[in-house]
Amino acid sequence: MAKTDVAIIGGGLAGLCCAIQLKRAGVPFMLIEADDRLGGRVRTDEVDGFLLDRGFQVLLTAYPECKRMLDYEELNIQPFYPGAMVRHDGAFHRLSDPWRRPMDGIEAVLSGIASLTDKIKVADLRSHCQEGTPEDLLRRPETTTLEALRGYGMSDAIIDRFFRPFLGGVFLDDSLNTSSRMLDFVFRMFSSGNNVLPARGMGAIPEQLASELPAAAIRLNCKVDSIDPNTGTVTLPTGEWIDSKVIVVATEGPEAARLLNRPQPRAWRAVTCVYFAAFEPPIRDPFLVLNGDGKGPVNNMCVPNLISPSYAPIGMSLISATVLGDPPGGDKKLVAGVWRHMQEWFGDSVKQWRPLRAYRIRKALPDQTPGALEPAQKTVKQGKGLIVCGDHMDTASINGAMASGRRAAEAALTELGRGG
Ligand SMILES: Cc1cc2nc3c(=O)[nH]c(=O)nc-3n(C[C@H](O)[C@H](O)[C@H](O)COP(=O)(O)OP(=O)(O)OC[C@H]3O[C@@H](n4cnc5c(N)ncnc54)[C@H](O)[C@@H]3O)c2cc1C
Repeated sequence: MAKTDVAIIGGGLAGLCCAIQLKRAGVPFMLIEADDRLGGRVRTDEVDGFLLDRGFQVLLTAYPECKRMLDYEELNIQPFYPGAMVRHDGAFHRLSDPWRRPMDGIEAVLSGIASLTDKIKVADLRSHCQEGTPEDLLRRPETTTLEALRGYGMSDAIIDRFFRPFLGGVFLDDSLNTSSRMLDFVFRMFSSGNNVLPARGMGAIPEQLASELPAAAIRLNCKVDSIDPNTGTVTLPTGEWIDSKVIVVATEGPEAARLLNRPQPRAWRAVTCVYFAAFEPPIRDPFLVLNGDGKGPVNNMCVPNLISPSYAPIGMSLISATVLGDPPGGDKKLVAGVWRHMQEWFGDSVKQWRPLRAYRIRKALPDQTPGALEPAQKTVKQGKGLIVCGDHMDTASINGAMASGRRAAEAALTELGRGG
């Protein structure tokens, strides 16, 4: 039997940020992770010299908690071009800076992606999202993202050709049923900073966080079997147990529900990412390319080594294609569908692409429809000696997971009589 003050279950971003705050406060803790590596949903695999993030993700430099906790210089963050390319009606249309100057590109207006009225409405949305603190945005009255966009007076054209693929890719929800609070929060974040990749992949984020923690306080390959918040006992699959004064459950929502013997949470959003190796990139700039037609499996694609060259071996390119949901059929069918779609966009050169790997992430994001974010940042303390954190307790994002981890540590310190 081991003893510690705080047992943290789960070594994703939430658990890591909780552990860091406890370490800084000098409180003994044990971080217990089921997997063989830390990072949870933010991991990068190295395959044949390519860096494959486990599902396409980006870091938004404006995220308040990331600014507090991460060393961007050390991560060597590399920005996307401040704009997107929209594939619509057989052609590619460049939107210059859809996040900070969303409709600056006259080409967008001329190409039928947006109207001049849309340009004004997007500016309205932008200024509405700049009011108050980012936390204030998460307390606003809410509706769905689709209703909110219509409420701003956006045309169906800009909703379907830009917002649906863009926000659909962020929320993993192209029905745009996600809460309008997330629209406001995410638009604020995209408008106020860059969207970037760490030079060595998204997995560098948890690696940087973990580097602050003592190895002796981390147990990997150890899936917690059960917990008893009344006694502070954490039981491991080996039958061993850990005695603690406070238990922090930092797992995904469904696993937290299992450990706490509560009903399973509402639906999850799934996403699938297919990677290919290519000799030639199909585009030349570090753009995110959005599917503005609403046809075909691919929601968005990019060439990560055009953002950070480390993503591919010299002379090669990595292609990332994101499909929303968990398409039926095997990976062979999935890859064939993506291949066909990309041939429609980029022509016969796509036939030379070599499939590298497909990631199906069935539990990628928790439910964020109206009501799910209520209250906007849920109380992490759940009872005496029991704290729950993770992205299901905040915005479903890198920022939300990290912020909830910090709030969990603050609650644990209060519980231990060490609060400020
Ligand atoms: C494909 C994809 C794309 C995304 N894109 C973005 C993006 O672009 N921008 C953004 O901000 N966010 C994005 N997100 C969301 C973001 O990655 C997550 O919100 C965040 O990483 C969640 O962190 P977490 O610590 O709450 O949970 P997790 O990362 O799920 O961590 C939970 C940890 O608990 C461990 N665990 C579970 N059960 C047990 C147990 N019984 N015992 C011990 N350990 C256990 C798990 O192994 C895991 O390591 C994306 C997510 C995915 C999957």
